[in-house]
Amino acid sequence: MLITCPECGGKEMSDQAYVCPNCGVPTGRVVGYEYSSAGSL
Ligand SMILES: [Zn+2]
Repeated sequence: MLITCPECGGKEMSDQAYVCPNCGVPTGRVVGYEYSSAGSL
């Protein structure tokens, strides 16, 4: 599935990517992981 980078605001990228290939910002995948870690504390 393709997602839109919140930083670039236009470039579509795969949600399988850990960072945006265009600007290098971490994707929701990484954010979701940190969310899970924080929730288990
Ligand atoms: Zn980007």
